[in-house]
Amino acid sequence: MKDNSDKGFSKDELLRAQSNSYSPFSKFKVAAAVKSEKSGKTYYGCNVENATYGATICAERTALVKMVSEEGPEAKIEEVRIISISDETISPCGVCRQSLYEFSDEKTTVISYSKDFKMEKKWMMDELLPDGFKFSID
Ligand SMILES: [Zn+2]
Repeated sequence: MKDNSDKGFSKDELLRAQSNSYSPFSKFKVAAAVKSEKSGKTYYGCNVENATYGATICAERTALVKMVSEEGPEAKIEEVRIISISDETISPCGVCRQSLYEFSDEKTTVISYSKDFKMEKKWMMDELLPDGFKFSID
């Protein structure tokens, strides 16, 4: 029996989240997994589109929001994994890069898979968003 788990991450769970994608407009089903550094728990999410397009939420932000709403504002991302229906790997959009960056540190990694996990690409978060925006009101 093939083991689909890797450090708490499950390819089967990622595919299950992808199957839940609400993407009637683009037909582009995406899922993401966000693993919490604090709890070790992995949160899965899919893209949820909207007829206005602008209100669409990407899979990466769906998974991120699940982590933060469960673990609070101090939660940090250990790693992000993404899959789509593409034969190529995809990378997070600009909005997701900024959203993920705010809960990332220098060790946060992002791994993207092509459909069926045939291809894999990996980045450090600061490669995807060098000098990302952060501010402090201390
Ligand atoms: Zn996005």
